[in-house]
Amino acid sequence: MSDALGDDLRRLLGEEGVEAPVVDRAWLHDGTESAAVLGEAAAVARPANAEQVAAVVGYANANAVPIIPRGGGTGYAAGAVPFAGSIVLSLDRLRAVRERRPEIWSLAVEAGVTTAEVRRLAREDGLYYPPDPGAGEQSQIGGNVATNAGGPHCFKYGVTGRWVTAIEVVLGSGERVRVGSGLPKDVATLDLRSLLVGSEGTLGVITAVWLRLIPEPEVRLPVLAVYASAQDGADAVALAMASGVVPSALEFLDRGAIEASRASYPGALPVDAEFAVLAEADGTLAGATAEQALIADMLEPTASDLIVPAADAAAGIWAWRDGVSLGVLARHGGKLSEDIVVPVDRLAEAVLGVRALGAEVGLETTTWGHAGDGNLHASFMFDRADPQQLARATAAAPRLFALARSLGGSISGEHGIGRFKVEAAAELPAEVLRLQSSVKDVFDPRGIMNPGAKLPR
Ligand SMILES: Cc1cc2nc3c(=O)[nH]c(=O)nc-3n(C[C@H](O)[C@H](O)[C@H](O)COP(=O)(O)OP(=O)(O)OC[C@H]3O[C@@H](n4cnc5c(N)ncnc54)[C@H](O)[C@@H]3O)c2cc1C
Repeated sequence: MSDALGDDLRRLLGEEGVEAPVVDRAWLHDGTESAAVLGEAAAVARPANAEQVAAVVGYANANAVPIIPRGGGTGYAAGAVPFAGSIVLSLDRLRAVRERRPEIWSLAVEAGVTTAEVRRLAREDGLYYPPDPGAGEQSQIGGNVATNAGGPHCFKYGVTGRWVTAIEVVLGSGERVRVGSGLPKDVATLDLRSLLVGSEGTLGVITAVWLRLIPEPEVRLPVLAVYASAQDGADAVALAMASGVVPSALEFLDRGAIEASRASYPGALPVDAEFAVLAEADGTLAGATAEQALIADMLEPTASDLIVPAADAAAGIWAWRDGVSLGVLARHGGKLSEDIVVPVDRLAEAVLGVRALGAEVGLETTTWGHAGDGNLHASFMFDRADPQQLARATAAAPRLFALARSLGGSISGEHGIGRFKVEAAAELPAEVLRLQSSVKDVFDPRGIMNPGAKLPR
């Protein structure tokens, strides 16, 4: 079957667009590789344009072959991890800029353009694309839309979906359509665009995205506050939110995350830091300076140390923050990270709850993330060479989801459900699951699009 499939795909895409059989294992995993997740696939298809995407999906639909859309492969939910007999459909060759209209703050790019490249294109025009998920040099805009990715600056500006004005998609039937008009306002249709945002490849393959941009803020002025306890830090977050200022970012790190990333902080971090809050004011120099002072006032009362870095320090501080995840991974070689989300006033309970869970299962844990959104990256660290530690981390995940739900939260704030959390997603209300399943049938009548991911069967 694999040989015939490979030959058929080569007829559609040429030799350079197909790998069958699959020899490069990089196609078979995503960001969950650190938890030893590895798939299988019959073929990798690398179309060069949207017409070729439609040809591959049309072929797969006619022959009932499952398609696993793949962006940068940085996902943390195993949504892009394929299974035996499936086709990995990689968007890495769809890298064209479709429309660049800085005068109306608009940019349209193909799905395979990386997040960092989108932000660079905007910046070259004096504009700003705010969503900043951590693996921006590898993740693709199509993958960001498919997961509705967040990032530190989404606290003020909103997650990916808020910036999407239209999507070109190849549906499971092979039909290519554009939903949304590319205008910032348009209510002439049902909001089909929003159905695709966060759909994790289960409704169709996103081939191009129209984005709204805004003018680049003149300055970014961070503040870092350090606390002797998670409760003190969480109280400071609550005060900052009550101040009337909307920080451009409001992040936190617990002790483990601070220690794992200490070496890459551009300066000296206080020793014995139990919890840190990283906030930022942005805008014009005058406006951001006043806001930074107000944020510092709000973070200070319960802090053991307050650092107000120099005005040009922001880039170094965000590079440090971006590296936290890899610093945590480097600690023991393996980690299982889940992005639970809780109401922001339950943040301290969530941080302490994760720590208690780690102690119960005998694994070191750490949490960090988007404090203002109540979104935690709760990580169980383990030695990759020890399968028992991995098994304990895997067994802890459902208990972590139960903790999030008991605090009024949800099992995923930004990474998505993928294949990893699909069992936990089955606990969603039955009427919601039924509606989701009906939507899936309309977009993907033969069920070939990423089966087994996101939507419980
Ligand atoms: C170091 C690190 C830091 C991270 N930080 C963040 C963060 O701050 N915020 C955050 O939200 N996430 C973060 N992530 C997770 C990940 O980067 C995001 O989920 C990202 O949006 C995934 O994009 P990708 O292109 O790599 O998608 P992939 O991993 O390739 O795929 C993710 C899902 O989207 C689907 N998909 C991909 N492309 C398409 C397409 N064109 N059409 C249809 N479906 C598609 C796949 O089938 C899969 O289900 C981080 C990951 C790493 C490794």
